[in-house]
Amino acid sequence: MKRIIKWLGLEKRNAHIDGYFRKANARAGVYISAAVIVLESWMILSLLMTLRERLQNRSVSWAVNHFAGYGAMIVASAILMLYSLKLLKMSDEKVQKTRWIGDMVQGFFAAVAVIFGIYISGQDYLHNEMAITFISVMLLVSCVLVWRPVASALFSGFAFYVYYLHLENIKALSDSAKLNLFIMWMTVSLVSLVMYYQIREAAVSDDSMESVNQHLIKRMTQDDLTLIYNLGYFRTHASISLRNENNDLGKMIFLFLDMENFRAFNHQYGYHEGNEYLKRFAAIISDTFIHDLVARVSDDHFAILATDEEIDEKLDKIMEEMRHDTKEIYLGFKVGAYRPKRRDEDPVVCVDHARYACGSIKKHYTEHYREYDEALSSLYLRQQYIVNNIDTAVEKGYLKIYYQPVVWAKNGKVCSLEALARWDDPEYGFLAPNAFVPVLEEYRQIHKVDTFILDRACQGIKEALELGFVPIPVSINISRLDLEVMDVNQLLEDTIAKYQIPKNMIHVEITESALGEDGDELWHPISRIKESGFDIWLDDFGSGYSSLNNLKDFSFDVMKLDMKFLTNLDVQGKSGRILRNIINLADDIGIHTLAEGVETREQADFLKEIGCERLQGYLFSKPISTDVMRRQIRDGILVISEDIQYEIQDSQGHAVALPEGE
Ligand code: C2E
Ligand code: CA
Ligand code: CA
Repeated sequence: MKRIIKWLGLEKRNAHIDGYFRKANARAGVYISAAVIVLESWMILSLLMTLRERLQNRSVSWAVNHFAGYGAMIVASAILMLYSLKLLKMSDEKVQKTRWIGDMVQGFFAAVAVIFGIYISGQDYLHNEMAITFISVMLLVSCVLVWRPVASALFSGFAFYVYYLHLENIKALSDSAKLNLFIMWMTVSLVSLVMYYQIREAAVSDDSMESVNQHLIKRMTQDDLTLIYNLGYFRTHASISLRNENNDLGKMIFLFLDMENFRAFNHQYGYHEGNEYLKRFAAIISDTFIHDLVARVSDDHFAILATDEEIDEKLDKIMEEMRHDTKEIYLGFKVGAYRPKRRDEDPVVCVDHARYACGSIKKHYTEHYREYDEALSSLYLRQQYIVNNIDTAVEKGYLKIYYQPVVWAKNGKVCSLEALARWDDPEYGFLAPNAFVPVLEEYRQIHKVDTFILDRACQGIKEALELGFVPIPVSINISRLDLEVMDVNQLLEDTIAKYQIPKNMIHVEITESALGEDGDELWHPISRIKESGFDIWLDDFGSGYSSLNNLKDFSFDVMKLDMKFLTNLDVQGKSGRILRNIINLADDIGIHTLAEGVETREQADFLKEIGCERLQGYLFSKPISTDVMRRQIRDGILVISEDIQYEIQDSQGHAVALPEGE
């Protein structure tokens, strides 16, 4: 059935294919009308020139009718030409919308031409001349009406029938003349059918090219998931808006939206629901900022270039709609904003500033909106400086290793050291890790610091052995990203081999938050490190979530209790009881305990009483440089525990004879 419908040319056509047909018809219309105008003008001229001679054997009304016929043909052709020329310039949509006008113009031309053909040919027939005019007219008309084969066949069938009746009326037709007429009709129909298929073929292939084109354009400008614009499109069009002098630069503002808790949402409801939610969020933002440029930057991040009008109200409205939608999980969002200063600013950098402002309030639970200002700008510049200069800092020795002693709770003697990084910069001065560790983590450069600190720690132990100091085990902080970007185990092995120090002199601290997210992938490299013979310490226990799961899944050697436990510690109250229970639990499962951030004697006494083995904090020592540490050991300010001397083993696990202590 479908085939027959297609063969008859009755299938549904899309706007593009239909437009193609109509344009093909219009093109034919231009040529044909031009030809008809020239032809009929010539006919009028020749008629005028031979009028006297012709009038001798024909009547005046014959001449008038002929002039009227030629005139009508010229008028109909002129209309067809003007309209066709106009149509060729229209878009497919416009052609679709005004197609009834096209149908009327072509129909009018066809009707005038057919009537003219029938009349003139009838006259010629009467004078025993050939019926050429009618056939020519029918061919011309079928060129203009290549549109639906069935309709063309019916139309020409009808025209031929009327022509036949007209001729019969003048003078009865012979059987062979009737047959000729029928064959002529068939020929005209076939010609229009062939033309139809040719044009259709071309239209379909043009359409598929057009749809590939459209698809490519969409892919280049659209975000696959949410179907709103992508960053590439945003960049181009934001740039155009910025440069447009008609837009008030002072009123333009870039916004960066970051959903809160989206990870938790994904975790709880799964990927599919998460995607649906992103689509919904994108739709809400687009609807709210309907006159502005909205794009998805990545993940759950969106960018908007808005005019500074009722921004607060719009953001409130988005929040309101999200509340309406949200399930049990709280899904808010944070917004960073940046006001461009110049028209030639790069929109991607503007979005970056807004993103930075947004990131600066990530952990501030009550803040939801932050503009990029002077303070943020200098912080941003410092961070860029850090990222760009990490290699120089390693090379030129701006990066330094500091040590903070860990002591036995029972006697306050040093049992190990924690290696902590410091950056002493010629431009920015002395920087604590919180000024450079997070930004280097963000830019996946932190392994450079950790590699350096490990190297210096091993070098320090080697030096201590050579200088006759008691070597003290050092714990190294490693970031989750180290495990992703490098083979930490190999690095540990290589470094201790380089300095020829025993494995049990180096411990590895990994924070709970690094494991908390999707710990599974990280167990493998961590297990390898442990199997290699390095102790693994769980850092910041109690600061993140799923703490107990981590303990169950992996046998850590030491658990470092986060210093949060000690702030507002009430030894008699709830916090004291919690701490006591944790120490008992660790004891039960065979993990050693260490409390961080011990600042007062009371805290130290309490921790000792409840059985915490090791303590670290300002009460005993702040992080200090190697020189200061050695001086303090020499001066007896720091006392090294005798029992760590028994821990020292060589790489085969045999006890190492220690040099005489100081
Ligand atoms: P962390 O590993 O939890 O290190 C302990 C932090 O607590 C150190 O801060 C230390 O100076 C501080 N601290 C120690 N005792 C006390 C105390 O009694 N009271 C208070 N208020 N603070 C105390 P620091 O050195 O600023 O390091 C901060 C964080 O930076 C570290 O936390 C660690 O996560 C990270 N970090 C430091 N060095 C490195 C490193 O070489 N590599 C990596 N990946 N991270 C590092
Ligand atoms: Ca640590
Ligand atoms: Ca810690």
